[in-house]
Amino acid sequence: MDDYENLLKRARASLPEKTASGERFEPPNAETLMQGSKTVVKNFEAICLKIRRDPQMLAKYFSKELAIPGTMEGNRLVLHGKFYDRVINEKLATFINKYVICKECSRPDTKIVEGLHGIKTLVCDACGARSPVK
Ligand SMILES: [Zn+2]
Repeated sequence: MDDYENLLKRARASLPEKTASGERFEPPNAETLMQGSKTVVKNFEAICLKIRRDPQMLAKYFSKELAIPGTMEGNRLVLHGKFYDRVINEKLATFINKYVICKECSRPDTKIVEGLHGIKTLVCDACGARSPVK
């Protein structure tokens, strides 16, 4: 038992340290819970913080894509339908590709700027690229 724990310790110590800059972006994973006929995204607020998007925007996206109403309750999102977490995570990944990741440099350091007539543009802080979003 001791040997095994030492082995684990050594294995962990030999892992490369992550650097603050140049770290690979790890898309967040939605943690969901089925409650009766509803699906709760438990870490909804944490996801929005990580991808730096307005929770309202992501909530709206989920309800549109899944064709069901969604309501925010505290830091969770309650979807009024039953969905497997695989489905939620597929939608989340699509959202991130479309509205978070820069099309030029593939970095997530972007923001959405709303211009005249509600036209939205994805602006990258890393490389300065601008691309329209629908
Ligand atoms: Zn970029």
